[in-house]
Amino acid sequence: MKVEQRFGPGHRILVTGGAGFVPSHLVDSLIERGCTVVALDNFVTGSKENVAHLLDTPTFTLVEADISDGLPSHPAVAERFDAILHMASPASPTDFEKLPVEILRVGSVATLHLLERAAADGARFLLASTSEAYGDPKEHPQRETYWGNVNPIGIRSVYDEAKRFSEAATMAYRRSRGVDTAIVRIFNTYGPRMRPDDGRAIPTFISQAMRGEPITVHGTGNQTRSICYVADLVRGILLLLDSTESGPVNCGTEHEMSMRELAETIVSLCDSRSQVTFVTRSADDPEMRRPDLTLAREALGYEPTVAPEEGLRRTIEHFRKRLG
Ligand code: NAD
Repeated sequence: MKVEQRFGPGHRILVTGGAGFVPSHLVDSLIERGCTVVALDNFVTGSKENVAHLLDTPTFTLVEADISDGLPSHPAVAERFDAILHMASPASPTDFEKLPVEILRVGSVATLHLLERAAADGARFLLASTSEAYGDPKEHPQRETYWGNVNPIGIRSVYDEAKRFSEAATMAYRRSRGVDTAIVRIFNTYGPRMRPDDGRAIPTFISQAMRGEPITVHGTGNQTRSICYVADLVRGILLLLDSTESGPVNCGTEHEMSMRELAETIVSLCDSRSQVTFVTRSADDPEMRRPDLTLAREALGYEPTVAPEEGLRRTIEHFRKRLG
């Protein structure tokens, strides 16, 4: 299925969390297409640096605000939007403990504020959901039809359940208010602009390997993830945005690897002498993760193209420049 570009010059797009890792790459692509983009961020986990290169672009506006408090009164926000991409949310497991209430709010009240606005504007609304919606899955690989296995009161529940609430809210506004909605379930994504200290495996392993410190793999390291380079994910999200598909649609890659294998690959790509060590694994950490991409392929023509070694090389290069 070929998806025609639907959003381009003249279209106004709101990207919440626009100064974050994934959203800032999305903003770059939308600006390249000629869209007018308003990025809204409170910088809780993002950084102005990620969009600093766009600050003089006339079609780009950065607004500092907490979206959980509602849409801010700012001239760039007051004008009608053609699409709203709700990308804001802390997403690292370390944030689940540090920012639990903030995560619950941005995945609940903020989603409702934005859906109301999408209904008022007649805008397409795209929700960044997550493979965490599947919890510790009993089905492998995960298809969108799988309902998941989530501990509703565990340490990860603030994130998993907030995203599941956001999905429910998105579908409710679609059914009851006729909002044109889309849900993407994002699998583990990595690339330039991740924070070296953000607590997720890839930036942690790269930073440790560069400093020659032990690589701290959780548990036995046999748990698996399928890692996706950010450029592939952004292409998938834009295909979904342009389509009329509502989803949820999985987006990621099928390159499944164990955490131990990932650590060893990073050590080798960094030419590091770091040893792989094993530390206590956090509660409810999923055992395996791999998306079934059939729907993304059939409905969107999505195909990831960047092999893990290549994507990791580009990410390491970025960290080298950043960490000096
Ligand atoms: P990130 O932390 O780099 O980006 C999130 C951005 O949202 C940050 O800039 C942060 O400051 C902003 N933000 C958070 N709460 C906010 C609020 N209340 N108001 C305004 N801004 C707020 O994380 P990311 O990895 O780029 O994730 C982006 C989105 O993709 C998130 O919704 C995340 O749940 C989803 N996702 C990411 C992955 C991944 O592997 N990177 C996987 C699944 C889902």
